[in-house]
Amino acid sequence: MATEARIPDRLVRFVEITGAAIAVGEPESVLLPKLGDQMRALVSSDDWLDPAFAEPHPTYYQQYLLYADPDDRFSVVSFVWGPGQQTPIHDHTVWGVIGMLRGVEIAQNYSLASDGTPVAAQDPIELKPGDVEFVSPTIGDIHEVKNAFDDRVSISVHAYGANIGKVQRHVFPRDGGPPKEFISGYSNVDA
Ligand code: FE
Repeated sequence: MATEARIPDRLVRFVEITGAAIAVGEPESVLLPKLGDQMRALVSSDDWLDPAFAEPHPTYYQQYLLYADPDDRFSVVSFVWGPGQQTPIHDHTVWGVIGMLRGVEIAQNYSLASDGTPVAAQDPIELKPGDVEFVSPTIGDIHEVKNAFDDRVSISVHAYGANIGKVQRHVFPRDGGPPKEFISGYSNVDA
């Protein structure tokens, strides 16, 4: 991958510690708090992300692959939200650790009613720089995320328990109906 030559030290540390923690094979209940601490350290300073991976798109939120584990055990992605941009309601099917780097994003968690219609679970969560959030099939895996701002860019860093660009997952229509399968792409990697 062309990005490998410019992995910043701070991200190298995150990758090394994450790889070692996964290798131990701990359950998610132990692993996620540990990775949360590492993510908090990663986003505690906003001086390391390559500007090429902080670039918004006028129409679509961007997902730049920052690191892919060679064995697909995990990946690290920067999410770049242009003004007003947001995801559909979606799941991940693997654990995810989200750290806020720049700006503010709003995450709304959902559960599914018996007929499959997404129902907002709890109040929306506001993530500010340095904040960390988690998703996973065991703790709640369905959410939608948006930039809190209509006039500026927000950026969060996401780690997932797989190469998320290879994972088949789901978008849930707001008004119910069958979920649609999708595989997310990377803005900086050709499919
Ligand atoms: Fe998500």
